[in-house]
Amino acid sequence: MRLRNITGSREMIAESRFVVHEPQEYKGRWRELFSNDHPLRIEIGMGKGRFIMDLARMHPEINYVGIEKYSSVLLRGIQKMETDPLPNLYFIRMEAEEIADVFGREEVERIYLNFSDPWPKDRHAKRRLPSREFLKRYDEILVRDGVIEFKTDNEDLFRFALEEIAPAGWQLLQMTEDLHHDEKMLAGNVMTEYEEKFSALGNPIYKYVIAR
Ligand code: SAH
Repeated sequence: MRLRNITGSREMIAESRFVVHEPQEYKGRWRELFSNDHPLRIEIGMGKGRFIMDLARMHPEINYVGIEKYSSVLLRGIQKMETDPLPNLYFIRMEAEEIADVFGREEVERIYLNFSDPWPKDRHAKRRLPSREFLKRYDEILVRDGVIEFKTDNEDLFRFALEEIAPAGWQLLQMTEDLHHDEKMLAGNVMTEYEEKFSALGNPIYKYVIAR
């Protein structure tokens, strides 16, 4: 998602108390930031942040970090936090490739990937967030019994993601090719902005849950 470049969005982010500006400094010490030892769950590619904000509101006993690479998009999340601040949620503006520099070994309890960029060209496969290259990074930061939950409406990306699981040493726990008509997997579902948009167009939503 790339919004029109909003003038000053970088400056507004630099001043925001909802953004962690030097996230590498918290590697292995995220508990100190939240001042508690609650589990930490992260969304990579949070966009405007509706999903992670809804989760943080519903689960004050869990800590959340939302990661987004574009300032103009992240700014929308910051604006929402200004009217509805949540003590158990912070944002980071960063490229997800650096994730293992920001979180320590087994520091993250769950990872959410929602409507990740498809990078359709073969030569860009490594940039896809559910690729084996990224699964290796997630392996470094996720607790042993931690899970990754991935949703998308992009069939090609989903098929690719399924094929990456075994070679990367992960296991499929649950999957559906039509989340909104899968009673079991739909229970407790929190919609993302993209999910609402694409399901309204009639696109089925694919979802998997994987672990090691
Ligand atoms: N999760 C949201 C937004 C989906 S769009 C939703 O479901 O509504 C995908 C988002 O991921 C975009 O905002 C994009 O900028 C971000 N993104 C994609 N690749 C990324 C990466 N490598 N690092 C950080 N953010 C990324």
